[in-house]
Amino acid sequence: MLKMTQVSKVYRTEVVETHALRDFSLEVKPGEFVAVTGPSGSGKTTFLTIAGLLESFDGGSYVLDGVEVGRLDDSARSKIRNEKIGFVFQAFNLIPDLSVADNVEVPLRYRGMKAAERRERVRGALERVGLASRERHYPAELSGGQQQRVAIARALAGSPRLLLADEPTGNLDTQMARSVMELLEELHREGATIVMVTHDPQLAARAQRNVHVIDGQVLSGTAELLGLGAWGRAQQVA
Ligand code: ADP
Ligand code: MG
Repeated sequence: MLKMTQVSKVYRTEVVETHALRDFSLEVKPGEFVAVTGPSGSGKTTFLTIAGLLESFDGGSYVLDGVEVGRLDDSARSKIRNEKIGFVFQAFNLIPDLSVADNVEVPLRYRGMKAAERRERVRGALERVGLASRERHYPAELSGGQQQRVAIARALAGSPRLLLADEPTGNLDTQMARSVMELLEELHREGATIVMVTHDPQLAARAQRNVHVIDGQVLSGTAELLGLGAWGRAQQVA
């Protein structure tokens, strides 16, 4: 499904250069559920945004479904993103002045889908997350757990084969977190490939595989563990 080989990503500002990923290599097979853990600032979000084609990268190779995406232009990348990938973010990222139904519909509009099919998919996705009765509500009228379920409905309305979730339960209490996790597990059983960043060891343990990221790299063995240099990734260049 997804294969990154020695991917590097450098963020540059006027004063600092941050190596967010360096020689980052990871393969995720179709239908896997992978949990990604690691300290704050280790590059987890950077990895997900590159995996989801929201960001470009500086070196290495990223093959998604057999296509080297590093060579694609912006419009080819957005097309793939729209067709294959769903995102769930920690901060829900719902649009406050759109209703629940309109929020879920946004990515379908980008796809140029006909109105009738959009309506059907929006309804189906909201039923799926148990929020069909809230379609006319606005995000502010919902609890955090409900907002996150709307965000999941938005991601799954497009039937993504790859679901990328960045600390999807980070802002939720334990019970809400569990119900969001159960929803992800259900999608996984139905065939979606899921990559979830989480700080919660109990949730990570429920995934099929855990990947630990430290200092912009996937930690794979004791040798790397011994060679850790967790400091000083932000280098002064001016
Ligand atoms: P994590 O999600 O594991 O907390 P991130 O991927 O967000 O880590 O960040 C990795 C490193 O890259 C951090 O040092 C962070 O400050 C830096 N970084 C992330 N995004 C940007 C950005 N847009 N501009 C500059 N630096 C960034
Ligand atoms: Mg992050």
